[in-house]
Amino acid sequence: MFLARDYRAEEIFTREDLSSAQQMFGSITEDFMRTKVLPRADEIYSKDWSVTRELLLKAGDLDLLRVDIPEEYGGLGLDKVSSAFVGEKIGIFPSFAGSLGAHTTIGTLPLVYFGTPAQKEKYLPRLASGEMVAAFCLTEPGSGSDALAARTRATRDGDHYVLNGQKMWITNGGFADLFTIFAKVDGEKFTAFLVEREMGVVSGREEPKLGLDGSSTTALILENVRVPVDNVLGTIGEGHKVAFNVLNIGRLKLGTRNMGSAKNALNRATEYGKQRQQFGRAIATFGMIRQKLAEMAIRCYVGDSMAYRTLGDTDRAIEAGGDVLKTIESFAVECSINKVWTSESLAYVVDEAVQVYGGYGYSKEYPAERAFRDARITRLYEGTNEINRLIIPTRLRKAQRNGVANGLLAHEKNLTLRVLDKVEDMEQQEILGHIADMAIEIYAIESATLRAEKRGGSLQKDAVAVYAEDALARFDHSARQLGIDATPRPRFDTVAARRRIADAVIGAGKYCL
Ligand SMILES: Cc1cc2nc3c(=O)[nH]c(=O)nc-3n(C[C@H](O)[C@H](O)[C@H](O)COP(=O)(O)OP(=O)(O)OC[C@H]3O[C@@H](n4cnc5c(N)ncnc54)[C@H](O)[C@@H]3O)c2cc1C
Repeated sequence: MFLARDYRAEEIFTREDLSSAQQMFGSITEDFMRTKVLPRADEIYSKDWSVTRELLLKAGDLDLLRVDIPEEYGGLGLDKVSSAFVGEKIGIFPSFAGSLGAHTTIGTLPLVYFGTPAQKEKYLPRLASGEMVAAFCLTEPGSGSDALAARTRATRDGDHYVLNGQKMWITNGGFADLFTIFAKVDGEKFTAFLVEREMGVVSGREEPKLGLDGSSTTALILENVRVPVDNVLGTIGEGHKVAFNVLNIGRLKLGTRNMGSAKNALNRATEYGKQRQQFGRAIATFGMIRQKLAEMAIRCYVGDSMAYRTLGDTDRAIEAGGDVLKTIESFAVECSINKVWTSESLAYVVDEAVQVYGGYGYSKEYPAERAFRDARITRLYEGTNEINRLIIPTRLRKAQRNGVANGLLAHEKNLTLRVLDKVEDMEQQEILGHIADMAIEIYAIESATLRAEKRGGSLQKDAVAVYAEDALARFDHSARQLGIDATPRPRFDTVAARRRIADAVIGAGKYCL
């Protein structure tokens, strides 16, 4: 548990540690997105799902849908870092990333991790090629965060289960062929089922949404849908294991995707800032605009540091022989931390991108407006940020402690554990929220510091120092709310450091940390 020990820089995986094979795979993904997907954006935004399907097939040809699928079922069986690096690259187009990500992650992974060999043989090769598209169906009109309160029922009838109910907000709902649907057997035993569209799944209308205009989101109507008993996924009554484990992996992978979207927004804002003239100068020469670009870059650096660290830790534990699901579950806190931090930082970055664009940022004819709308969902799905903030202290309290921190952030780590131990009533959400925020900032600062130490130069160290200055102030604020006086800290000149980072970003014309 990261609060109860020290780490050395060499111990953590960083984005700079990506292997040449992983880099190559990322380049293929980037090229696919730029040359095949982005040119078809208008068709995708017009909700012509035949285009999305055609592009998913192309993605299958390039092996992009095979990453997490075992080799014996037509996949590549690669590590989580590779999978998340693909996620980073697709993050430049959130609508299509939504379709592809829902297919490969929450759509396909329930089957990968809980399917029988026969179920895998039947469906995985077709999911790997993109011939079949998958969706994950947990949410209902009356149960979102409280997913286990689902009302969809499954009743045994001979060698079938008959499903009745409604699902809500299903990504790929309008065109998917295979659905992992959660229903309660006899109204009690929460269970996952593999359901083909032809078994009787009916899609509702496309939901009119704030963002992700080019991804399909619909309700599903289940009226006497007959599902063979062979299509029960996992164990009857243990659907929660399928749902929560898969959501954990989703959170882990969402981190790099969010940072892919954030870097894209920063790159567009930098480009615009260099070319837009006011008062006879490019706006990127004004201190306040430069400060924004620098801070956006800092967030991207810190987010990547956290996400790749957790991914690397997960892969290492799996390689060492750990059971995949148990391993990922043991990183549940880090998965939630990544989800909350990267979604909130993405929100910050896209908001600042609108500001750099000025009035044009508010126009649908410029990219900042769409990026702003598209980003909003990331704080809501894969467990809302409130639910993830609750998971952090709850899990931390139960986690085994593996020592005591003496080095970097030892004071903050020990303080957080102390206040966590003192909480008498785990129903006091306001307190838990502050503790979650303290843990999040510790993980963020530590991850970025270790990455910069391992692979960074002076610019990266500037980024970390600026981040730490602000994050520790937030940490102190949370601690104060819990009755602990702020810690005296040395001051760091963030103005000068942000200027150096802005020089670099504007000079490169894009994110360059
Ligand atoms: C575009 C889009 C795509 C989606 N894709 C899918 C999909 O593919 N599959 C799927 O199954 N679902 C999907 N969802 C659903 C999504 O996961 C849910 O919307 C989300 O889990 C929240 O549930 P809810 O909307 O019912 O909100 P609610 O659970 O009603 O929450 C409302 C508010 O109350 C807060 N809240 C709820 N419970 C607590 C608590 N115990 N403590 C503190 N605060 C609480 C929440 O954080 C939130 O702020 C999607 C949603 C959208 C908008």
